[in-house]
Amino acid sequence: MREIIIIGSGPAGFTAAIYAARAGLSPLLLASSVQAGGELMNTTEVENFPGFPDGIQGPELMMKLQEQAEKFGTEVILDDVTSVDFTGEVKKVETGYSGTFEARSVIFATGSAYRKLGLPDEERLSGRGVSWCATCDGFFFKTKTIAVVGGGDSAMEEATFLTRFADKVYVVHRKDTLRASKIMQERAFANEKIEFVWNSEVVGISGENAVEGLTLKSTTDGSTSELPVQGLFVAIGNDPRVHLVHGQLDLTVDGTIAVAGRSSKTNLEGVFAAGDVVDPQYRQAVTAAASGTVAALDAEHFLAALDQVEDGETARVIADVVDELVAAD
Ligand code: NDP
Repeated sequence: MREIIIIGSGPAGFTAAIYAARAGLSPLLLASSVQAGGELMNTTEVENFPGFPDGIQGPELMMKLQEQAEKFGTEVILDDVTSVDFTGEVKKVETGYSGTFEARSVIFATGSAYRKLGLPDEERLSGRGVSWCATCDGFFFKTKTIAVVGGGDSAMEEATFLTRFADKVYVVHRKDTLRASKIMQERAFANEKIEFVWNSEVVGISGENAVEGLTLKSTTDGSTSELPVQGLFVAIGNDPRVHLVHGQLDLTVDGTIAVAGRSSKTNLEGVFAAGDVVDPQYRQAVTAAASGTVAALDAEHFLAALDQVEDGETARVIADVVDELVAAD
């Protein structure tokens, strides 16, 4: 049985792995079967991760984190976790291809997934003009007119990035002010290819085999209008990936995993959570990394305490056996 399994390969997972590996716990890190690195693999320039004054590409940052984790003895397996049983003393993690792993402790750092608009045609036209990832799909929209929906940092980043390819990018937002940080807003406002469509919700996506247009509904007077575009990028936030632990770990009203105070301790002994999956508010690469540190330290303390209890029990058993032998004499 292993000391610790880390589920998730974003900044939280890899940072937890670096700490756990340096503590001599030989962690096993389960990344997804597609690629390790989490959401940052889909971003371009990361300008706000401390230590990189000139910025660093998201994928490069993640590769460096993985390299650092492996250097200290983390085993990384690319496989999807299909189910978990965290309820007993032995934590069980089942994967798609590599079988079931067992450990005395677990760090759950599965991050978050793209939020969807929930429109009937969104799924049907996914990959046919509807996308959640500008860096993955932007190239296919050369000289096209497209829309990005959302008013946060993701929407500003996607819209700005997409102007490298598209002739025109509409940003459709349901309010008349943005949630995005000032620097990202200013960058988008200064971009001549970006036009903002305020106070509007996307209520329909049209097109037989590819996106041809959007139906917008005004959030001020309820009127509808058509916006002809060949692509729609949905950038309306993320939801914590908690489906694996439903019924086992307590959740907060925000849908994140509930942890005790500033710690990473969940309601189950030996199970710790870190990164976006516990964070409804900040969700930065660096806060996720810090949260991974907390989880690794909590797990380390938990395992040390467990060892002490087990050592105490072993000593008691040996003492009992010695007592019995002496009595038999
Ligand atoms: P946010 O939650 O910050 O923003 C989501 C946006 O989508 C909001 O403007 C919200 O509108 C809108 N929205 C939510 N649901 C819907 C819906 N159903 N229909 C229409 N609009 C909707 O998510 P982000 O992904 O933008 O950012 C998440 C975190 O990641 C943030 O902390 C952000 O700072 C960070 N980030 C940082 C980057 C960087 O620094 N380079 C890049 C990308 C993200 P409303 O405002 O009305 O609620």
